[in-house]
Parts: sequence; structure tokens; C-alpha cells
Amino acid sequence: MPILSQPFRCMACGHEYEEPVDEERERERQCPRCRSNSVRRLKRVVPTQPKPEELPT
Ligand SMILES: [Zn+2]
Repeated sequence: MPILSQPFRCMACGHEYEEPVDEERERERQCPRCRSNSVRRLKRVVPTQPKPEELPT
């Protein structure tokens, strides 16, 4: 199973970055800028994905 790079945002300084998700390191994740551990994973935006109503039937 490949490790995907996921977007994160620091709640302390607002810094956004991407980083491979490693479940073993999930607890010690911290912002690379300010070292805060108030980091949240963002949902990846896929702008090219068609809307359900535009899919052919
Ligand atoms: Zn930060």
C-alpha cells in the first residue's frame, strides 16, 4: 500500500504543507515552521473530478 502525500495545515501559524502520511508518526506530527503540534489534515481537493449529475447514465 503506497504512502500518499497529504495536505496539512498548522492551526497555530496557518502554514500549509504536504507530507507523506505515516501512521506510526501520526501522534508526533508537528508544524515544520513553528513546531506546533496543532496540525490538521486537510481534505485533498480534486477540481477535475466531474460532478455526479454530469456523469453519463
Ligand atoms: Zn505552524
